[in-house]
Amino acid sequence: MLIDGGSSPSRGPANYGEYPIFMRRGQGSRLYDVDGNEYIDWMMGFGALPLGHADPEITQAIAEGAATGAHFATATEVEVEVAELLQQIVPNAEVVRFANTGTEAVMAVIRLARGVTGRPKIIKFEGHYHGWWDDVLVSSNPLPPGDPGLSGNPVKVSDSAGLNRRALDDTIVVPWNDLPALERAIQNHPGEIAVVVTEGVMANMGVIPPQPGYLEGLQSLTRRHGILSFLDETVTGFRIAPGGCQEYYKLKPDIVSFGKALGCGLPVAAFAGRADIMSALTGGGVLHYGTHNASRIGMFAARANLRKLTRDNGAAFRYIWGLADQLAGGITDLFRRTGTAAIVQRVGPMFQIMFTERDAIRDYREFCQHVDRRKYQRFSWKLFEYGIYTSPAATLHSIVTLAHSASDVEKTLAAMEKALPAVT
Ligand code: PMP
Repeated sequence: MLIDGGSSPSRGPANYGEYPIFMRRGQGSRLYDVDGNEYIDWMMGFGALPLGHADPEITQAIAEGAATGAHFATATEVEVEVAELLQQIVPNAEVVRFANTGTEAVMAVIRLARGVTGRPKIIKFEGHYHGWWDDVLVSSNPLPPGDPGLSGNPVKVSDSAGLNRRALDDTIVVPWNDLPALERAIQNHPGEIAVVVTEGVMANMGVIPPQPGYLEGLQSLTRRHGILSFLDETVTGFRIAPGGCQEYYKLKPDIVSFGKALGCGLPVAAFAGRADIMSALTGGGVLHYGTHNASRIGMFAARANLRKLTRDNGAAFRYIWGLADQLAGGITDLFRRTGTAAIVQRVGPMFQIMFTERDAIRDYREFCQHVDRRKYQRFSWKLFEYGIYTSPAATLHSIVTLAHSASDVEKTLAAMEKALPAVT
């Protein structure tokens, strides 16, 4: 009845095997499947749940929003309040616009960049995912991974059938963490590039941090060439710091986008940035519509979420970073004790295990060549049997949230110790 048993290929057999799990209920750090099995959930709705499942403040906020009306077809007070909160938290958020999903926000920003600069082309990076829209659905995670070509002249590999081929003509793909490659690509297309879009931490190829100075270098290059810099913080926003990568790495992107963690499980996304750029949206000059933009119930959830995440001067972030230190440290220690060729890569609460002989994975090419994806998947499926739900895909990642506890970490480490022999 449903293709792949659900509503996205990443929830079906590709990630969960022939008989995908059906979950029924979530509470705090726990999920319960339809057979009543309990799991410690490190997946947390692809990162959409920074406070865990059914947080009481969020459920109360959602109930309050629902009880007073879901949609008025007008501006609302609560969307102004959420925009004000974002302005306080996100350094470059002079002006804010709400959307529903990360994909939509990216689509709007790219149209905005083209509208403002009058230039047609965009640059994106190998292994970066920015949603399922044609212009960016290239070389993000081609399966099976083919020959990516020379790093100075990468092959563009479509991630899907049915793409508008002409859309890809205007998309330039460059390896990440490689400033000379970016500079060459910019020089090869003088005056044609509207925007460079990047994730702040590569989060759709495991977890791959930026090399020191890389994102700052990217920003100076774009600025020098009159190109806009667009930081896609769909994953990293409200996760590695209140102001995301922008705050953590002290960046100044022209535009930033958010999704996932903002709505605490409800579809809320946003993009924000310099007022002179964002003002091109005024009156639909650069058009961005959406019946459900700034959904009132979603805004109630986002307001409660941002209030909770920023309470007590960043205590939430100190907590999740500390817990992630314990978990990642424990896993690394397990691999060392057992002589397992595997590493943990992480930035703050985002982490991923990589079965590899390498001591670090720095980009998409290294990931494709040196990471054993199947072994990782077998490990994560084995962990399900022990009641631990980590990312079932090597290319995704797992997340520590405010709902997790030290005891969840201990139970997870004990389960990993038991599951490891099945795959090594
Ligand atoms: N950008 C990034 C960096 C993402 O990781 C994702 C989703 N994984 C998106 C955009 C698209 O977000 P959505 O699934 O909400 O459309």
